[in-house]
Amino acid sequence: MIPVRAYFRLFAKYLRPYRRKASLLAIVLFATIALQLANPQLIAEFIDRATEGAEVGELVPLAVAFMVIAIVHQVLLVWATYLAEQVGWSATNQLRADLADHILHLDMGFHKANSPGELIERIDGDVTALSNFFSSMAIKVVGNGLLVVGIIILLWAESWVVGLAITVFTGLTFLGLVRLHGVTVPWHKAIRATSAEMFGFIGEQVDGREDVEANGATAFMVNRFDRIQHKWLPEVVRGWTGWALMWSASMGLYFFSLMIAFVLGAYLFGIGTLTLGSVYLVFQYIGMAHRPIEEIREQLVDLQKAGASIERVEDLFATESRLVQRDERLLPDGPLRLSFEHVTFSYDDEAGDERVLTDVSFDVAPGRVVGLLGRTGSGKSTIARLVTRLYEPQHGAVLVGGIPTWDIQLDDLRKRVAMVTQDVQLFRASIRDNLTFFDDSISDARLEEAIHRLELDEWLSSLPDGLDTMLESGSGGLSAGQAQLLAFTRVFLRDPGVVVLDEASSRLDPSTEALIETAVDHLLENRTAILIAHRLATVARADDIIILDGGRVIEQGDRVALAADPGSVFSHLLVAGMEEALA
Ligand code: ATP
Ligand code: MG
Repeated sequence: MIPVRAYFRLFAKYLRPYRRKASLLAIVLFATIALQLANPQLIAEFIDRATEGAEVGELVPLAVAFMVIAIVHQVLLVWATYLAEQVGWSATNQLRADLADHILHLDMGFHKANSPGELIERIDGDVTALSNFFSSMAIKVVGNGLLVVGIIILLWAESWVVGLAITVFTGLTFLGLVRLHGVTVPWHKAIRATSAEMFGFIGEQVDGREDVEANGATAFMVNRFDRIQHKWLPEVVRGWTGWALMWSASMGLYFFSLMIAFVLGAYLFGIGTLTLGSVYLVFQYIGMAHRPIEEIREQLVDLQKAGASIERVEDLFATESRLVQRDERLLPDGPLRLSFEHVTFSYDDEAGDERVLTDVSFDVAPGRVVGLLGRTGSGKSTIARLVTRLYEPQHGAVLVGGIPTWDIQLDDLRKRVAMVTQDVQLFRASIRDNLTFFDDSISDARLEEAIHRLELDEWLSSLPDGLDTMLESGSGGLSAGQAQLLAFTRVFLRDPGVVVLDEASSRLDPSTEALIETAVDHLLENRTAILIAHRLATVARADDIIILDGGRVIEQGDRVALAADPGSVFSHLLVAGMEEALA
């Protein structure tokens, strides 16, 4: 089914800016149709006059007119194609941009549930399928419809027998082809679905190449790849069989119609009803009728495809971010207060019992540093993600600067609350671009100043080309420690009011460790901070301690006081060591 309303909504919205070009396109297309109908008339006239023994001087103007029309027709066709491509691509590029923008603003949960490969296939694949729909589908269907009607009227004018025969035959041909098409559609759909699966799979594999190889899982992955391929091949074969069926049926019908033209033409010429020119005309028009019928059918196929794509595009647009913005307040300068009020959270809305955080409450005064401890999987990184509003809690509230996060303008929140995660994402670009996120307005002097303030000059000078050193994507050829240093500089440049540091759980070499220690010291100056620690040494600089267990806060308080209290979990940790006490 074709979603008519969605169809018109998209059509109106994205075509409006190009309506003048689209109108021009319509005019050009209609002109080409008129010219197509005109030319055979000239030839018929030419044949009739020639067989009647007309002078050459009488025939030349007809021949010249024929050539002029033929050339103009070709030129107009080129122009129409050019216009159609232009309108189609401009409109769909806008749609692509809007979709990409929409998707990038969806919450993390959406992105975890949809692989990047799948999204690319949806944005680009579906929108490309819509390109013809935007440019010329309506015009082509109407235009070709008019052409067929024109041909049929002109045939009736020549001879009602031929007119009737061709009207019936054309109708049957069209219905037959549409019917046959209905049979082959599901075959093509299956190919599309498998291809989306394939690209999703490849995207994921390329992304996780390092882990796959390191774990010796290559064979399993190749096996899975094989399985998808094995499913794909018969589908593709069937799809092409469907195509071949359509093609041969269409060709068969075409030749059959030519046969009708021959037989009727010969008969009517024999009994003297038609002149030789008219026989030519009948033959020519019937031959001509085939292409527009084919084209209308193709447009209907495209429309059907576009229908499916429109539905998916609308679906994407209708997917709302679970982050509902209630207000657009801005955060004050300087260090910010950070509080959790009875926060309960699970990654999956439906699975209610899979709670990752349960009734978590704490309050960090501006400028204070909190050490967050807990065994692996206790929900520490989840807290960091809630602070930066990558997810929204189901119950309770996260407040930054005393304002609930959903009342804070998202861009401002992201600017003023910074997070360094356990694995730093690097881009395949220079160190400079990796630090500034491709923001050209940040000068090298500012970068060097930031690096200097973090006492990382030595690190910078150790890079082969300084700021111009190129990184590879993923881990970028930097060690985990070096990547953390880079991430600190990124954060420092933004001068946030809250910093969340999710410490890398891997061990670092002592010299990098020392660099990190000093850099963190500088990074935390005059900022509120949460330090997620896997080592007790890290929390030595914390003012307060929060200990999580199974998504609940089991202890919180002043670090020094807790350490002095022999009954506290923290002092037990200090005695027994982190690994023993928590693991
Ligand atoms: P670690 O010390 O290993 O970094 P953590 O305390 O940071 O652990 P979290 O990453 O917050 O732990 O994870 C808490 C729980 O939430 C875990 O049970 C984990 O399986 C689950 N979890 C984490 N991320 C997701 C996600 N994107 N979708 C669903 N569940 C998740
Ligand atoms: Mg973590």
